[in-house]
Amino acid sequence: MLIRGKCHCGNISFTLTWDPDPKEIPARACDCTFCQKHGGVWTSNPRGALEVSIQEPSRVSRYAFGTETAEFLICARCGIVPVVTSRIDERLYAVVSVNSFENVDPGLLKRAPISFEAEQSDTRLARRKRSWIPDVAIQ
Ligand SMILES: [Zn+2]
Repeated sequence: MLIRGKCHCGNISFTLTWDPDPKEIPARACDCTFCQKHGGVWTSNPRGALEVSIQEPSRVSRYAFGTETAEFLICARCGIVPVVTSRIDERLYAVVSVNSFENVDPGLLKRAPISFEAEQSDTRLARRKRSWIPDVAIQ
């Protein structure tokens, strides 16, 4: 399946290859302070490939906090956060927001709360390597 998503105005868009077609898509409602304020619900596929395309790079705000190992890509025009990236050992990993999906039946989403607040930094990076999208291109 080719999942398409974008921010509200279209400045940040992405396609996520999800192969084979998903029977369900995990949708993790993160309880970090940023995601609480933003309603962040994320998914990733460790065998997926993500292509992000940005129309106006000057209107993308990159926000990091806490351990500063993840970067939220915020559209500075419409305020939506479609993608989070993390660079680990020279490789770029990512998760995408299920709220920015364009062509996915909401019935496919398996929503569940999740908490990483107690996680140590090295455990966190190891988990991202395991579960985040490992093939990310941004243009
Ligand atoms: Zn936008």
